[in-house]
Amino acid sequence: MTDQYGREINYLRLSVTELCNLRCRYCMPAEGVCKKRHEDMLTEDEMIRAVEAAASLGISKLRITGGEPLVKKNILSICRRAAAVEGIEEVCLTTNGTLLPPLAKPLKEAGVRRLNISLDTLDRDKYAYITRIGSLDQAAEGIHAALEAGFEKVKINSVLIGGFNDDEISDLSELTRRYPLDLRFIELMPMCAGGDFGKASFIPYTRVLEVLPELEPVEPDGGVAKLYRLPGAIGNVGLISPVNAHFCGSCNRIRLTADGKLKPCLHSASEYGIKGLDFDGMRSVMEKVIYNKPAWHGLLDADNRSHAGRNMNQIGG
Ligand code: SAM
Ligand code: SF4
Repeated sequence: MTDQYGREINYLRLSVTELCNLRCRYCMPAEGVCKKRHEDMLTEDEMIRAVEAAASLGISKLRITGGEPLVKKNILSICRRAAAVEGIEEVCLTTNGTLLPPLAKPLKEAGVRRLNISLDTLDRDKYAYITRIGSLDQAAEGIHAALEAGFEKVKINSVLIGGFNDDEISDLSELTRRYPLDLRFIELMPMCAGGDFGKASFIPYTRVLEVLPELEPVEPDGGVAKLYRLPGAIGNVGLISPVNAHFCGSCNRIRLTADGKLKPCLHSASEYGIKGLDFDGMRSVMEKVIYNKPAWHGLLDADNRSHAGRNMNQIGG
């Protein structure tokens, strides 16, 4: 369905858990999340009902996210059932990759068509620093498992952080010459848990173009990234700019959190609960949420933090 500004909303991001096996500094606090009561979180049946309600309103693309979706014990069942919902044409999943080795093939068999894997650095020490507890080797094994499993597309997401990984723009982009994957740089967004990041950390996507003038523009694929390619590469370099060149005017998505709150915009404080509702109840709240999606997310920079009221692990990115 279309919202009040005429945008066609056809994409739902479903967060299946707030929990994560990493603690990325830009995403969540060091102490992890204060675990909510089990009965306050959506059940698997409620998640599937919400996907059915969304599909009945014209949502055709679903992304499973988190927290880390692969820590969820019933993740394969959620993916399988969601992929079978009438009207859902594409199920994708975003993960930090560390738990992929045994799960990549089963996820593909469950109907997940595309994977986005987060990786901000190729340096072991920097990976351990930014994730606070993660191992680069585990993430790399996960990426290899994803490539072997034969997904339609594997994309690597790197959050671009001044003073942290801007010296790796070239090395990260080189992955697109060696492997059949896209590498996408995402501007750092100022969420609540952004204490580690001062003004200098927030660098614009154009920094990538300055470092790599040889990048050649390629046709957009319908996503939010501006796409480029290194000469001779087999994958694209994508630039995603939620801060410096926001794409709110063409935003096509809504979000559902693991505790059952529909968010019409990632950075808006507005939330609408659907936990405990039947199909008609969920559908009618969703209709309202889509129609009332805000025009844009408001000013975002180091001094103007997100109004989301949650850290990113509690929304899903
Ligand atoms: N755990 C999974 C992962 O890391 O891919 C899925 C959830 S994570 C919240 C989804 C995406 O949000 C990741 O690509 C992550 O890098 C990104 N993200 C988290 N906090 C961010 C921030 N402050 N600015 C930009 N991207 C952020
Ligand atoms: Fe976990 Fe993903 Fe957030 Fe990192 S970005 S803490 S992996 S949810």
